[in-house]
Amino acid sequence: MNPAVRNALSVDVEEYYHAVVFREATQGISAHSFASRVEESVERVLALFARHEVRATFFILGEVAAAQPALIQKIAAEGHEVACHGDRHELVWHQTAQEFRADINRAKGLLEDITGQAVIGYRAPNFSIGRAQGWAYDILLEEGFRYDSSIYPILHDRYGHPGAPRFPYEIRRNGHGGLIEFPIGTARFWGVNLPFGGGGYFRLLPLALIRYGIRRVNAHEGQPIMFYFHPWELDPDQPRPPMSWHHHFRHYVGLRREAAKLSRLLQHFRFSTARDILGIQ
Ligand SMILES: [Zn+2]
Repeated sequence: MNPAVRNALSVDVEEYYHAVVFREATQGISAHSFASRVEESVERVLALFARHEVRATFFILGEVAAAQPALIQKIAAEGHEVACHGDRHELVWHQTAQEFRADINRAKGLLEDITGQAVIGYRAPNFSIGRAQGWAYDILLEEGFRYDSSIYPILHDRYGHPGAPRFPYEIRRNGHGGLIEFPIGTARFWGVNLPFGGGGYFRLLPLALIRYGIRRVNAHEGQPIMFYFHPWELDPDQPRPPMSWHHHFRHYVGLRREAAKLSRLLQHFRFSTARDILGIQ
């Protein structure tokens, strides 16, 4: 452990049925037929963070904020950073520039009205800012965002920018100022970026390996990791509609072990909000 380096801890606040794999697997079933479970699962996350006395960045979906304003106020009141995960979990590469602007503007305005605090961080649903969506960074700046955390510098079948920088850097500057990109955490082995930043990989890989990777980045490179997970990953009792083996594995693997695994991770490394690590006032 390198006590000098703090890592960024983040939570993408959405319902289990917003997850892209779940949505894809249950196509044709309306989201309205699934019961909301986000409140209970966020409460689990807040209790975990309180136990470890750690603050995190919550990238919150506008749709969830509209349904659960008191929950969002509680997140802010407990000292966490409230940031934006878009409005309805529509993937950026399925939106026009105008639709994207309307989506983030609505979600940001709602989160700011609820918390009374400026929202400056954004994470795209499923990291969906591809190479063809560079316009999104200009729009984020124009809409008052200061940082983005939507790039996962790995090779992946759905998202990923394997050659992108691995640590925070200015991805765009225009008349509205500079936008920092805080990529999801990777460790580099044998010239390849491996995923150590959370999500399904965290559920799948042994904790000892994840710890080794983060320690290596903190100690040898002197850099922070951006780590993320979802509240629904702490909810093993969520509905399990029929789906293909492949979808089932990707969505449900490791849910029962997730809480204990996160708890052990939080014991081993120092974490804080993205805003804090980036030093944005
Ligand atoms: Zn999401």
